Amino acid sequence: MDEYIVTIGVETHIQIKTKSKIFCKCSTEFTEEPNRNVCPICMGLPGVMPTLNFEVVPLAIKTALALNCNINRISGFARKNYFYPDLPKGYQITQHEFPLATSGYMQLRSGKKIRIKRIHLEEDTGKMIHDQDQNSLLDFNRAGVPLMEIVTEPDFNSEKEVIEYLENLQRIVRYLDVSTANMEFGELRGEPNISLRKKDDQKLGTKTEIKNLNSFKSIEKGIILEIERQKELLSKGERIISVTMLFDERKQELRPMRKKESVSEYRYFPEPDLPDLLLSENFIEEIKKSMVELPSQKLERLQKDYGLSFEEGEIITSNRDFADFFEKSVDGVKNLKKVTKFFIREIPAILNEKKIGVKDLKFNHKDLNKLLKMIDEEKVNLNFAQDILKKMSLTGNDPDDIIKCDGGNISLNEKDVENMIIEVIKENSKEVERYKNGEDKLFGFLVGQCMKKAKNRANPKLINEMLKEILKR
Ligand SMILES: [Zn+2]
Repeated sequence: MDEYIVTIGVETHIQIKTKSKIFCKCSTEFTEEPNRNVCPICMGLPGVMPTLNFEVVPLAIKTALALNCNINRISGFARKNYFYPDLPKGYQITQHEFPLATSGYMQLRSGKKIRIKRIHLEEDTGKMIHDQDQNSLLDFNRAGVPLMEIVTEPDFNSEKEVIEYLENLQRIVRYLDVSTANMEFGELRGEPNISLRKKDDQKLGTKTEIKNLNSFKSIEKGIILEIERQKELLSKGERIISVTMLFDERKQELRPMRKKESVSEYRYFPEPDLPDLLLSENFIEEIKKSMVELPSQKLERLQKDYGLSFEEGEIITSNRDFADFFEKSVDGVKNLKKVTKFFIREIPAILNEKKIGVKDLKFNHKDLNKLLKMIDEEKVNLNFAQDILKKMSLTGNDPDDIIKCDGGNISLNEKDVENMIIEVIKENSKEVERYKNGEDKLFGFLVGQCMKKAKNRANPKLINEMLKEILKR
């Protein structure tokens, strides 16, 4: 059925997290007010000189190292010339012939390596807004915001691989604290280019590019639609034209935007106002030393150190704060298997429901650690612990306090527990009789009855032991 081979390459723009823009001192902070963060430099007025904000360099190098790239000791800036209203200078400052980093790779789950062709620095453009009265307005707050562009070789064969790559990339730059990489704010923009060719063709087919993809879902959908479109054209014997396709989020469809410029049409030339970027071996070594544990490394270590499954590890390392929180919370906890599910289900559910990060939880890792140790010591059972966790997330109270103000006192004294068990035995005389006649499984039922009566106020271990004891009498 599939007589075509799908080939996809991806260009990703990621906003680098700095206070000011890449070639001027304007703030990069998001603001609703249009044209607040602008100056003559980012507006491209005549006679101004750009200066490189050096803060962007180590951040981009960290990303390049995480993607196994070579860092080029000499890189340089160029002007990419084109006319578009959102580009006040008439050109964009980028890196062309001499990018910051080249020849890296990222390994996917399947073991397949996606080659990274290059990573370069550049400035963002402004934004054009079309209002309801058919006016086109311009906002230059984004003009000059620092970006790095990460370009892969055409090594992907499916939308699934593209999504895995982009999710990994997002995780990496967040771990490195290089970018917040929120797709809905345009801080991470993935643009796939797609071509199809017959199985026995050696040469790649004509590629098209998709833009305006603001979520992983849109990227997946956009690629699927474009593959379908090209298949249909090819099967009718038609040619594919090199175009940029625009994804319409609302209608969930693609439409051609413009015929894509070829490289020569941009008339690149070296930026005369900026010197080359020279990096010393020492500088790069220092950055290497300062690298934090990357998501893939953390995943491997947590699996080894805490006996997590791959799936559990993936959830726990999905973000760095959460992984740190996990490690601190389970410190000294013996029964890891039992408590891991808190980090797979209960806590993610709380975070999702409130749409918060782990740092905004009302309880901290110390209180959680206390609760998890109570499970270890069988002071509370799992169900009760879940209740306590919920209350901790609502009140921020420490687990001991919650147990106390629940009218609960988990250490009902032995005499109380004994009286309670005797009551349960009286109330369930038939079952007790059957148990004594050899129906062992009824022991569980009797424990359940005691637990119900104790309303979580008694130590389950104590109930178990005392019940056994009393039934022997
Ligand atoms: Zn500026």
